[in-house]
Amino acid sequence: MSSGRAQLSKIRQVLVERAEARLSDAALRLLIEQTGEALLLMDAAGHVLAFNAEAAHQFRIPVPERLEQGCLPGCDWVRPENASVPLEVSPLTRALAGEGVREERWGLRRPDGTVVVLRGSVFPISPAGSAEEAPSGVLLRAREELLPRLDATRAARLLAEAGALLGAELETEAQMEPLLRLLVPSLADAGVLFLGSSGESVRAVAAVHAEPERHVLLVEMLCRYPPDTLDPRGLPSLFLTGRTERTAELTEEQQVALTRDAEHARLLLSLGLSSYLGVPLVARGRIIGALALFRTDGAPAFGDEDERLAEELSRRTALSLDNARLLREAREAVRLRDEFLGIASHELKTPLTPLHLKVQLLQKQVDLLAANGKPVSAERVSETLDVVQRQVRKLTSLVDNLLDVSRITAGRLKLELEEMDLASVAAEILYRFAPSAAQLHCSLEMHAPVPVLGRWDRLRLEQVVTNLLSNALKYGAGQPVLLRVEADGRTARLIVEDGGIGISARDLPRIFERFERAVSDRHYGGLGLGLYITRQIVEAFGGTVKATSELGRGSTFVLELPRGDIPEEWLSVPGAPEPKP
Ligand code: ADP
Repeated sequence: MSSGRAQLSKIRQVLVERAEARLSDAALRLLIEQTGEALLLMDAAGHVLAFNAEAAHQFRIPVPERLEQGCLPGCDWVRPENASVPLEVSPLTRALAGEGVREERWGLRRPDGTVVVLRGSVFPISPAGSAEEAPSGVLLRAREELLPRLDATRAARLLAEAGALLGAELETEAQMEPLLRLLVPSLADAGVLFLGSSGESVRAVAAVHAEPERHVLLVEMLCRYPPDTLDPRGLPSLFLTGRTERTAELTEEQQVALTRDAEHARLLLSLGLSSYLGVPLVARGRIIGALALFRTDGAPAFGDEDERLAEELSRRTALSLDNARLLREAREAVRLRDEFLGIASHELKTPLTPLHLKVQLLQKQVDLLAANGKPVSAERVSETLDVVQRQVRKLTSLVDNLLDVSRITAGRLKLELEEMDLASVAAEILYRFAPSAAQLHCSLEMHAPVPVLGRWDRLRLEQVVTNLLSNALKYGAGQPVLLRVEADGRTARLIVEDGGIGISARDLPRIFERFERAVSDRHYGGLGLGLYITRQIVEAFGGTVKATSELGRGSTFVLELPRGDIPEEWLSVPGAPEPKP
């Protein structure tokens, strides 16, 4: 009886245990189905122990019985750019080798050819307490990665935040990285902002990738392979057409075709770029840069809304950059003007001081002699008047320069053309400089074997030669100065060469600009106007003036002037007739 009861209770216990086991099995199955993620459990031999409906849906395969070497039948793990991932580094294989993989992004090409971007983890499983190296199973969890879409409210907020950023600072370029960070990752996974224009140099002023390791690679790539608008494989079409570009699928071949060598290709491919949206930055009809946005790892390509948002953002960015540039230029112009006013007052005052002293001295002497009833010596008056005249000439030339500048600015530079010989004009000016050259112990030489006839404005031509010669003496450090006049068909050429202080390559391009100087005003006086006026006059003649120089090795200024509407026979010198007086 008692053994019968004991047996009964054992049977009950077994039944309860079975019921409990069934229940926990059912609970486990329910859990596996309800997680909302794709779940796959397999043992080390590849037998599939669990494979939920979501997994079947995501991988687009029926429940497999066995996975050979961690390979999902008919599926291919792919890199962002759609290249297959070698099996040994695919997530399941890594976990089978004991590596835990947490929250990674994977691409999976499914048997129907579609690619899904998954975010998931894989865990090696070892029996409790087991110290074995190799796991006895693997659990994979994954879900489709959906980029958060930018709805209208978020897009408006993004534009407002961008507006606040762009309006905050004058140094707008410094705001470009924070601006990109607003777009990454909400609109794109990576972005680069380029400034510059077609045919000029283009710089990447900001670059951001959502993934820190890839960000480092992106920055490295841009440093080692800076953009080049002239390179037909680079960015040119965006800079040339000024039109938005969109590429839904950036293939590996397309990307490699953009690169300059294998290392460049390696860096570019490692960024995982899979689609592209490029928008030019246009200000006042001029392309001043470009915004390049990318999505990575097969994420959905950019749509129309994304394009509109990127275009609006680029428009605002371009406007703000252009305004900042105008403000900078205006400030620079004001600074230059103030600096010029300081120099001009100083320069105008310099001749006034000796003039004032000489007149004062003469006045005193006249008063003294008059008090003693003696006449003033003509010699003394004449000597004072010499100084006065010299200084008045200096003042007149300074004021003339200033007047010329305002005439040029107002477009009122008038030329009165007449026939003349450039060689004679040059010789006359050279003669005028002889006393100053002698004072500086500087030899002045001229080489003009034949007359060079043409139609020019005499006073303006004299002014040009005077400017070049006075500079050659002023900056010539006492070295010989050579002036050459020659003709080349319908072009007359005047060359002024000195062996003086020279001009650095950095300064050369700006010395013909208004108020620009390459020397300090403590060492050399001057308004920085002579060469500006020279160039304006020469250009009004339809000619050019160019300088070549090397610091410490002297300078050469070459003036080329069209000889104007002159008779054919004048071109064949010597033997050309003297022009009419
Ligand atoms: P300024 O002589 O009044 O400064 P210019 O317009 O004539 O102005 O010249 C502009 C600048 O170009 C000068 O300040 C000087 O730095 C440089 N420069 C001009 N001519 C020469 C020269 N022959 N040798 C060296 N530097 C020169």
